Amino acid sequence: MNETPTPARDMILLKEGEVVLKGLNKRYFEQKLTQNIRRRLKPLGRFRVNVLQSVIYVEPQDESADVDAAFEALKNVFGVMTLTRAVACEKDRDVILRTAMEYLDEPLRAARTFKVESRRSDKGFPMTSIELSQYVGGEINEAYDNLTADMHNPDFIVHLEVRDRAAYVHGAPTQGAGGMPVGSNGTAVSLLSGGIDSPVSTYMMAKRGLRIIPVHFFSFPYTSELAKEKVIDLAKILTAWCGRMFVEVVPFTHIQEEIRAKCPEEYFTIIMRRMMMRIADEIGRKNGCGALVTGESLGQVASQTMEAMQCTGAVASLPVLRPLVGMDKEEVIRLARKIGTFDTSILPYEDCCTVFTPRHPCTHPKLPKVEEAEAALDVEALVQEALAGRELVKLDPRRLHDDEL
Ligand code: ATP
Ligand code: MG
Repeated sequence: MNETPTPARDMILLKEGEVVLKGLNKRYFEQKLTQNIRRRLKPLGRFRVNVLQSVIYVEPQDESADVDAAFEALKNVFGVMTLTRAVACEKDRDVILRTAMEYLDEPLRAARTFKVESRRSDKGFPMTSIELSQYVGGEINEAYDNLTADMHNPDFIVHLEVRDRAAYVHGAPTQGAGGMPVGSNGTAVSLLSGGIDSPVSTYMMAKRGLRIIPVHFFSFPYTSELAKEKVIDLAKILTAWCGRMFVEVVPFTHIQEEIRAKCPEEYFTIIMRRMMMRIADEIGRKNGCGALVTGESLGQVASQTMEAMQCTGAVASLPVLRPLVGMDKEEVIRLARKIGTFDTSILPYEDCCTVFTPRHPCTHPKLPKVEEAEAALDVEALVQEALAGRELVKLDPRRLHDDEL
């Protein structure tokens, strides 16, 4: 065994999630997925990415390729069900055995029970999967005193896959991000504040295959530069899941001052939210989006009752998706922690919504009353002025291990 060359560097095998269920659309989804994977790997060195029989092979091409960082980054790519670090070898039972014992030596030493599971898509291979498992399992059993075979509840499973181009050896797969490839279901504008909820709603809709354009309304000097930076930081964290994004930062100060000067106080918030929706809707239509996304949850605050949602939704031509609508705050917080946005969201910078909070907001607004209250504003001019002043911030996914994610 000692005279064998050192095994090839390991690579990454990805199994597709829902993508495989898509029948005729499968190719399109697969293309989106591999495109997203390639883009995500770009800053991490040279890799080759190709798909065969619903498995995506990610192979390092030279020393520039950082496989550890690639594995971390690919955990967040939607459309991937499982990821596994694997090593390829020649399709020969003894080479497979030797490779398994070298590559998986550490976990094999640590386990007490094990089994071998083989899959064979190359029907030209001279052994059946069961024969290969029995052969490799028998030899490993002999070689490791600490191990006994257990078919039902083993500590460790040696996976062998005999495929067209090579055989692959690996241990336990890691769960992927699930969902559908970003972009495979179109694009949406997501209203992104500095709070806990909207980063989570953004993540959830990206998981359903939407490319996201985040829009943030910014009320300088009522909210500080730091508040804007916080939102940019949140969006940066989200790029790990959503991929490359352009954040639209929209000046909102004049609109808020106009509302405060001309509208009844109990309607401040609802009118402000309607102005946000109008602007987001315009940005959405300019960018060919199919929906708007918000972090609203039913009954969470006065502006998130059914009546309030009717009033805010009424000014949008695009459907408003509210993925958190039926979730408890606890569930949202759990997700925020999981996706890495929570710690940034709870930093104490103000959001523009808190600047002009009415003392007694109307919790069950009637649309005609809101329209009447709003009539004092030159809505169209304010929308156009805000759109003209917007700033675009381009964000690329960063190397995750630089970011403590
Ligand atoms: P979040 O935690 O997401 O800020 P919230 O519970 O504080 O939500 P609201 O302040 O009522 O609720 O905002 C409801 C939704 O409106 C947010 O989830 C977000 O989608 C959008 N929104 C609020 N403020 C802004 C802002 N300054 N810029 C962009 N979107 C905003
Ligand atoms: Mg908020």
